[in-house]
Amino acid sequence: MLTSFMATKKKRTTRRIQNRLPQTDQSPIALARAIDQRISSRLYAVSAGRCQFKGCNKDVTVHSLTRQAATLGEKAHIVAFKEDGPRGRQGRRPKDVNDISNLMLLCRECHRLIDTRPQDYPRELLERFKHEHEERIRRATAIGPERRSAIALFQAPIRGQRVAISEDQAVSALFEQQRYPANKPVTIDLNGLVGASEDDAFLAQACGQIDRAVERLFAQGGDLEAVGHLSVFAIGPIPLLAYLGGRLSNKVPITLFQRHRDSEDWTWKSNGPVVSYQVECLQDRGRGSPVALVVALSGDVKLDALPEPIRAASTVYRISLGGAVPNPTFLRRPQDLDGFKCALFEALGTISLAHGLVEEIDLFPAVPAPIAVLCGRERLPKVHPRFRVYDYDAAAGGFNYKLTVQ
Ligand SMILES: [Zn+2]
Ligand SMILES: [Zn+2]
Repeated sequence: MLTSFMATKKKRTTRRIQNRLPQTDQSPIALARAIDQRISSRLYAVSAGRCQFKGCNKDVTVHSLTRQAATLGEKAHIVAFKEDGPRGRQGRRPKDVNDISNLMLLCRECHRLIDTRPQDYPRELLERFKHEHEERIRRATAIGPERRSAIALFQAPIRGQRVAISEDQAVSALFEQQRYPANKPVTIDLNGLVGASEDDAFLAQACGQIDRAVERLFAQGGDLEAVGHLSVFAIGPIPLLAYLGGRLSNKVPITLFQRHRDSEDWTWKSNGPVVSYQVECLQDRGRGSPVALVVALSGDVKLDALPEPIRAASTVYRISLGGAVPNPTFLRRPQDLDGFKCALFEALGTISLAHGLVEEIDLFPAVPAPIAVLCGRERLPKVHPRFRVYDYDAAAGGFNYKLTVQ
């Protein structure tokens, strides 16, 4: 029964194709132009229903305005069906031009483009587009639901200059960590305070905004609680970043990102030397003295760069890059953030051993943004001293006290 039903169906399909063809072109070759339904389904599957032209990515399964279901994709031949068609004579012709390896799912515009300008879109280029698209879809869809993350973008003006974080770059960086965005990014935007110098009034307003935004972010029953993971992308003055870190709850795990100066994006690198941190005592003023901690990673901080009262009376500890010269691009891999956590705990442990219970530490950071956030976040409120955070500004005569993380 089944066999005869399928046979009838096949016959009917064939007839329909024949009917559509012009009378003069009813050769068996013209019939073979029809693409097998299984190949077509497979092409839609491996391309996730999106145009495979590099950079287009248009969803061809819905109408772009109404979002109604539609079949707008076109199955384009890389090497044309006919030898005198687009790319028809480039390289050795495929054994079967209707095989999936010779077909791209394209939107109408992109199909027209590659077929009217075949000289601009040679076979190898299109094969590369197809391969890259399918590889991307394969990797993206391999990310399981447990790898979703809520994105928070924190942007605060630096010395009166607005800053902005590209949402697209944030999503790409997340993707490279095998995570995907659970929903639209939450932006904590302090650019409204632009123009104000980083004085006490600016800092008080900024901290107030951070408090309210973080409270909303971590609200009970909120999105973040359901998602269970937060990804933080932050640009701003170092003391504010440390303050932000101090407000971020330990209730959900957090991945921090930074804008890389060399590649100008937010994607962590996976290669490069392992960063080794070193904790040392630069100046010892005895057990009862005030304590300062210098974190000299993106730039060097010498003793004589510290304010006079600190130099005169404080015991000064320093976290540095071991033997390496401090530089703004040392932080490349997310693992090197974990390394910093260990160094920070080592420094705080050393301080507690040498000085007993210390209520506060003067903190002098020359660090990349995520390390500033970590300084605030890793400090345990009931265990560790408060951090009095200083910021370096050559125009303001060096390091100046800005705010306290407690
Ligand atoms: Zn075509
Ligand atoms: Zn397209």
